[in-house]
Order: sequence, then structure tokens, then C-alpha cells
Amino acid sequence: AHARYTKSHPESLKIHDRACNYLPGGNTRTVLHTTPFPLTISSGQDTHLTTVDGQSYTDFLGEYTAAIYGHNHPVIRSALESAIENGWNYGGHNALEPQLAKIVCERFPSIDLVRFVNSGTEANMMALATALAFTGRKKVLLFNKGYHGSTISGRAPSGKPSINLPHDFVLSTYNDVAGTEALVQSLPKDSLAAILVEPMLGSGGCYAGSAEFLGILRRLASEHGALLIFDEVMTSRLHYHGLGSQTGVTPDLTTLGKWIGGGMSFGAFGGRRDIMALYDPRTGKLEHPGTFNNNVFTMNAGIAGCGLLTAEKVDALNGLGEKLTSQVMDVLSNRGILRDATVPAAPIADELHVAEHPQRPPKMFVKGVGSLMAVHFAGPDRDVLGGLFYHHMLEQGIYMAQRGFVALNIMLADEHVATFV
Ligand code: PMP
Repeated sequence: AHARYTKSHPESLKIHDRACNYLPGGNTRTVLHTTPFPLTISSGQDTHLTTVDGQSYTDFLGEYTAAIYGHNHPVIRSALESAIENGWNYGGHNALEPQLAKIVCERFPSIDLVRFVNSGTEANMMALATALAFTGRKKVLLFNKGYHGSTISGRAPSGKPSINLPHDFVLSTYNDVAGTEALVQSLPKDSLAAILVEPMLGSGGCYAGSAEFLGILRRLASEHGALLIFDEVMTSRLHYHGLGSQTGVTPDLTTLGKWIGGGMSFGAFGGRRDIMALYDPRTGKLEHPGTFNNNVFTMNAGIAGCGLLTAEKVDALNGLGEKLTSQVMDVLSNRGILRDATVPAAPIADELHVAEHPQRPPKMFVKGVGSLMAVHFAGPDRDVLGGLFYHHMLEQGIYMAQRGFVALNIMLADEHVATFV
């Protein structure tokens, strides 16, 4: 597969080789690293991406959920064109920022007041900084395989959080109610500032958080005086009001990103009025300046994008995703791959993948919620199988994440889903 891939993508290889002179591994986004080298994309139109080698792929990755509108959507495009007309980067307020803020606050019920940033990473860093300042404490509870951005992740293979920030992280297991409760009870009194959790593990493999688990997190946060933060950077697309609104749990803070900026660089954090008031320059004690926080491209593209993604569109997109997930499951069970094994409800520890264990999952399975899906491989050969699958799908004209992640966009239809299975 690698030989065929190299032969059919000579221009991508050339660009990668040159990029290695200036970027570590030729790369400025770790997630895009692929073996043997990544494809270089030259354009995106509707449901398709085209490479510098001239191949065209149906896009089932959707920029890791940010490209929910498909590519070059005329409504987003005209929002960008109209934003550009009057220049940009004013070093002053513009009328677009309160418009987008109103849309966000009205759409996501847990957000009374909001602040914009430039990425999901920054949104989570700011949410944690807010929690530390609000509680006067330091510890932050994260979950294994949870992903909150370049500097905040619980998915490191070492089993320890990947830390390049001086946070005092503690790590528990996603969906483990008893273990999480025991861990929190064991912490020194008045030490926990925040619990940061995705209502569904996104990058971690599309495992939905159970109602009991999310409920316990709410109770533990309240009992211990910590803030509960829902990272909805990915899951906000799974319901018109965000997946969090469907959990029966109201977080203190919520973080957003990806599609809400219309496909431009975007992040946001917001929540309870009394907490967010820390950022009121007239009365609050926290600063959050941010040169690009109100840039006119993101603001106008975000307004246009949120308008496109009506409740009906969200439901239709989730329906399409459920169809894809169930069709892939059907293929796997028809081939006998799902027999005699349990599809796990939460990520299985790496050692269980390898060991012969009664809980072992089938060699290949999928997890999905609405418009998101993750293809999983288990067992000692899982990396090799995952690589083969990725290259096989590319040869069928399907572009997805090398680690098996799929995010649908609103330009895809049943006929595209049919090409996947
Ligand atoms: N949180 C979650 C749940 C994410 O999925 C991501 C990105 N994949 C982030 C935060 C970070 O967002 P960004 O890449 O915009 O920094």
C-alpha cells in the first residue's frame, strides 16, 4: 500500500521533503502526520478535497469537525467577502462580535456570557485559568483519552496526562463512576479547581459519556466546590443546543471551537454570569486581551455558519451519521467480525487490547454519535491494521483521519455514505 501511495502522490512527497527543512517532521499539526508522508491538499469544493497530485477524495474528515459546512460554501464565502470589504484588524470593536455572542449565548443554554479566542486549545486554557482564579485552587481532573487541545490532553500512551503546561492534573477513567468518585474523595480538601470533560470523547474514539457518569461529575464538582467544565469543542455539533444540553447536567463553564467560527480560527469559553464577570473590565479582576479575538473574518463567517446550521440541519446530519455507523456495523457483523466479542462502552486500557482478556473487544468495531464516528482496531496488530485500512479507504476515494475518525458535513448525502460502505 505504501509503494502504491508513494507512486501516486509524487508532488505531495516533494512538498513534504522540502517542508522537513523548516518544520519539525515537515509538520505544523501533529494530527496530520501520516505514514509514509501526508497528502498535500490544493483545494476543497463541496464534498471533495483535491491534492497537488490531482487526485480527488470525498471528504469524510471535515477538518476534524470544523468543516461542517463542506468546502467553499457560498454563504460562508460571501460572509468572508463582505467582511474583507472594509479592511480588517482595526484594534477596535466591531459590530459583528456582539452579534455572534448573542447567537452563541442563545443557542447554548449553559452560557450566560461568552468570550472569544482563536482555538479550542485556547478556549480550554482560558476555562482552566478561569476556574483556578475563581476557586483559588490548582488541581484539575481530566480523563483518560480526553482531548482538550495541544497542551491539555489525557490521551498520552504513558497513561499520564500530556502536560506542557504547569497544571496540577489528576487523571481518571472515562465513564468510571466508582473510580472517579473514589479518586475525588481521596484528594486533599479544597484542592480541586475543576473537572474538565467532553460529554462524548471525540478524538478519544466517539465514546458517549453515560448519564450516570456525567451526573456524578456534576455532584462531585458541586460538593467539592470545583467548577464543572464541558468541553463542547467537538460535541456542540451533535445537537442544536450542544450535546451537553441533552445530558441533564448543567456545567459551570463550556468551551467551544471548530465549526462555530464558520471554518475560520475559532474558540470560545463561557458560562455562569457570576464566573464570567471576572472578565468585566469595569469590575472584574482577570485580563483577557487577545489581538485576534474579535477578528472580522471569524465573526462574520461564524454568524453566517450558525445561521446555516439550523436545528433541522443538525438533525439531518446526525441522521446521516447514524446511517453510516449502522451500515458499517452491519458490514462488520455480516462478516462475523463482531461475533463473540463486546464493543466497549469506554476506551479499553492499552494493556487490555494486547492481553487475552475476557473484556477484549472485536478486532475492528465502530463507535459513533450522530454525525461523528470512529473506526477502531483492537489487539496487538491494531496499528498495522489501522494503517492498512486508512490506505485502503484512500484507494476507494475516501479521505478520513489516519486514526479512523470521521466527521460528516452538510454537503454529504446518502450516495456518499454508500461509497463508504
Ligand atoms: N477540545 C476538543 C474536544 C477537541 O476535539 C479539540 C480539537 N480536536 C480541541 C479541544 C482543540 O481545538 P483546537 O484544535 O482548535 O485547538
